[in-house]
Amino acid sequence: MSDDANPKTKSPLAGLSLTFLAPAPDAQTAPIGAPPATAGSGEPVSARVVIVGSGPAGLTAAIYTARANLEPIVIGGVVGGGQLMITSEVENYPGFPDGVQGPELMGLFRKQAERFGTRIIDADVDRVDLSSRPFRLWASGVEYRADAVIVATGAEALWLGIESETRLRGKGVSACATCDGFFFRDKEIAVVGGGDSALEEALYLTHFATKVHLVHRRDAFRGSKIMQARAAAHPKIELHLNRTVEEIVGKDHVEGVRLGKTDSTGDETIPLDGVFVAIGHRPNVAVFRDWLETDEKGYLRAEGATTASNIDGVFVAGDVDDHRYRQAVTAAGEGCRAAIDVERWLEAQPSPEPAHSNVRSEVAR
Ligand code: NAP
Repeated sequence: MSDDANPKTKSPLAGLSLTFLAPAPDAQTAPIGAPPATAGSGEPVSARVVIVGSGPAGLTAAIYTARANLEPIVIGGVVGGGQLMITSEVENYPGFPDGVQGPELMGLFRKQAERFGTRIIDADVDRVDLSSRPFRLWASGVEYRADAVIVATGAEALWLGIESETRLRGKGVSACATCDGFFFRDKEIAVVGGGDSALEEALYLTHFATKVHLVHRRDAFRGSKIMQARAAAHPKIELHLNRTVEEIVGKDHVEGVRLGKTDSTGDETIPLDGVFVAIGHRPNVAVFRDWLETDEKGYLRAEGATTASNIDGVFVAGDVDDHRYRQAVTAAGEGCRAAIDVERWLEAQPSPEPAHSNVRSEVAR
């Protein structure tokens, strides 16, 4: 989070140099024992497990499946690593008592996954065909075939889309109160949005901030009545209805917010130290939307207490199916669960040929 607002912490791993975006030396090659396949060669690359996504969920799934000798391929995205790549200080990931930088943490995840033989491809999946097994996925002109797939494509926070917001992200602008609220102890802040997320974040942030300005563009909140009542009654929360964020003021760190008025003319500037944007999240489901069931909020749906999707052999993990917790540690936990589900599911398949049907078989527990 904000370099200015953060207590200065020294990472225990500061000496380690890890570059997430640098592909592994053998990235874009076929799995062990198979001939190399490069973009345009026309040769499909086969794997027991293909994991889509390289955030905490995808790379934890990779660590577990790699250690189960399943030789996973991770198709991790052109910009891999997930949301932690745009987070600076992470203080709530267990095992890092002095905190760790988000990109550094994801570099460590990657290194650990590669240590056990994971192949990480820095490309986006453009298209999938999950109609039969092996499943087929295409990325950068290469076709991948997999007996099982783990979808761990995450979700992204929605942003206002103004220049000052982008420039000051991590310098007082955040989209995660749970992650960054601590950095605003005894500071004055704003939360933008009118849904349950904004109301919840505003209430949560009162534990740290001296004052929370809740800014909403309309005269009525979208969030639940009980949360509205709590926010309205809280002595530290001031409501600013019919207000839009025109600019987040500050050069190197947040110094204020300039609000436009939708019910009158003119604008007003409030001096403050941080802005939390809480206007919703979008799960990254695009290439899977035609295949996998989603819930009413657009997130992928997992079956009961497992990570199994509606297609037998396809599993889901992390923020792409979780709109409730959205934490790195919960995503990592889901990646672990998906890997164990995959391992047991593969073991349960008839050998040597996997069944070519999408009739569900129960995930072994
Ligand atoms: P949401 O319900 O979609 O609300 C988004 C809010 O942001 C809306 O008030 C919207 O304004 C505003 N907004 C959207 N784009 C904006 C923009 N460009 N500029 C300014 N404001 C903008 O999203 P959410 O609050 O993240 O909630 C998502 C779902 O999760 C909801 O179903 C919610 O109930 C649920 N949730 C539940 C809990 C809980 O139960 N504890 C906590 C968090 C979320 P308008 O109202 O004018 O459209």
